[in-house]
Amino acid sequence: MVTSVFQTTQSHQLFAEAQNLMPGGVNSPVRAFKSVGSEPVFIERAEGAYIWDVDGNRYIEYINTWGPSIVGHANPEVIAALQEALPRGTSFGAPTRLENQMAQMVIDAIPAVEMVRFVSSGTEATMSALRLARAYTGREMILKFQGCYHGHADMLLVQAGSGVATLGLPDSPGVPKSTAANTLTAPYNDLEAVAEIFKKYPDQIAALIIEPVVGNAGCIVPNAGFLEGLRTLTEQYGTVLIFDEVMTGFRLSYGGAQARFGIEPDLTCLGKIIGGGLPVGAYAGRRKIMEMVAPAGPMYQAGTLSGNPLAMTAGIKTLEILKRPGAYEKLEQLSARLADGLLNIAKETGHAACGNRVGAMFTLFFTDGPVNNFEDAKGSDLGKFAKFHRGMLERGIYLAPSQFEAAFMSLAHTEADIDATLQAARTVLSAIPR
Ligand SMILES: *Cc1c(COP(=O)(O)O)cnc(C)c1O
Repeated sequence: MVTSVFQTTQSHQLFAEAQNLMPGGVNSPVRAFKSVGSEPVFIERAEGAYIWDVDGNRYIEYINTWGPSIVGHANPEVIAALQEALPRGTSFGAPTRLENQMAQMVIDAIPAVEMVRFVSSGTEATMSALRLARAYTGREMILKFQGCYHGHADMLLVQAGSGVATLGLPDSPGVPKSTAANTLTAPYNDLEAVAEIFKKYPDQIAALIIEPVVGNAGCIVPNAGFLEGLRTLTEQYGTVLIFDEVMTGFRLSYGGAQARFGIEPDLTCLGKIIGGGLPVGAYAGRRKIMEMVAPAGPMYQAGTLSGNPLAMTAGIKTLEILKRPGAYEKLEQLSARLADGLLNIAKETGHAACGNRVGAMFTLFFTDGPVNNFEDAKGSDLGKFAKFHRGMLERGIYLAPSQFEAAFMSLAHTEADIDATLQAARTVLSAIPR
């Protein structure tokens, strides 16, 4: 919380050491706080809506481990389930009852899902789903949207949003031109552009992959009719429609974005929340497509730690908690209170601002808006965002260190946490020059 002098000596020391040990001092780029021109705090522990850094500063936090900790950090029920599972062993490389149980829960939650394959990350999920779509259609091209991030597989590091945009890399060296050549991109929310691309390559596009609500360029909401239009076009051209719900799955509703918007994709990618804070991913969908996956079919995909018993245990408990009556209503109400509050305060203090929100996922962009695609998002005042981020951190509020990320609410947050956050925002925004 508010300490008289914000002090991060230990974090500074650890970050200096880390930079000698790991590239950039981190194991995932956005953690380095580069895009806000500062340094990360090193975390000691987390509980509920709070995290503590190694210098003893406490923060109300809205990163939620980048999504997974929707039931709150170190949720007592999840911890108890893990403690109960741990003595039985951490990994078997053989099937378990837990995988059946978790698969059934995913199938029951998402109408478009009839079968599921668990993997160990979201990256693996999207990479495998695209291989499956290519195997199923016998086609090679894929279509994605500018600003959407689907993990770091070669073919997907094209116009890939937050991490990549934040670092100012258009894509990445090391990705073969031949691989990128099979990836087509369109602006998000531009159905006409998509229709043009299908006209140009009517029988070559294996899959269209999309974040149904974008999180990785900041939160961007699909315009009315956009997702429906994609469903119609992909059906018309025999293209597999993949919803990458690694972020939105079990966040925007128990059935994800697809239940919220009433669209059924052919394949769905999951991750983050379904692992309850342990490494996990999944791809899932219609039986006739999923039965192509080995060993039922010829498309090869495997994983030593896939369906890991601890990840399944944490995931099952997390979904059980989310399924209880009132969970999503609470998330909705708390998120509206914070997102609306932030937008109002930004406007009252004279800043150009645009607030995008769906359920427990939102972004305050420092631009007049509207923000309907990645180009719009890039029009934000990044210098102002960096000042805002730093000011909030110093006042005990931990936000994602990039304008191109979404904020997440958890069930552990309270109205008092949100009011404290809004109060900090008012102080910070009042002090930032317009
Ligand atoms: C986080 C994310 C991924 C990648 O998941 P990892 O577990 O980090 O590999 C893929 N797609 C979306 C939409 C994501 O938000």
